[in-house]
Amino acid sequence: MSNKSKRYTGQTIDVIFHSERCVHAARCVKGLPEVFDVKKRPWVNADGEEADKIAKVIEQCPSGALEYIRKDRSEREEPNDRTTVEVDSNGIILSKRKLGH
Ligand code: SF4
Repeated sequence: MSNKSKRYTGQTIDVIFHSERCVHAARCVKGLPEVFDVKKRPWVNADGEEADKIAKVIEQCPSGALEYIRKDRSEREEPNDRTTVEVDSNGIILSKRKLGH
């Protein structure tokens, strides 16, 4: 884990945030404000909602800045594909998922 990565520990799920990857798309804070709140410290409350809901929102993060480790199951997030991020000429962030490695 890099210096810019931080782990937020919960009872049933741990959330890992890689700040250097974040493109500030805000899907996390809009999707689950009880868990992801930039006005609070720490900004991630891994016990703020059910693990399934947290995992679902994390899977929508377009940059891969968020990861999770389930502790209630022996399951770790394993992405099937890679995410790349591009900025178009209007400054709009586009994310693409490529199949394969
Ligand atoms: S959804 Fe991902 S990219 Fe968007 S603000 Fe949250 S961590 Fe950053």
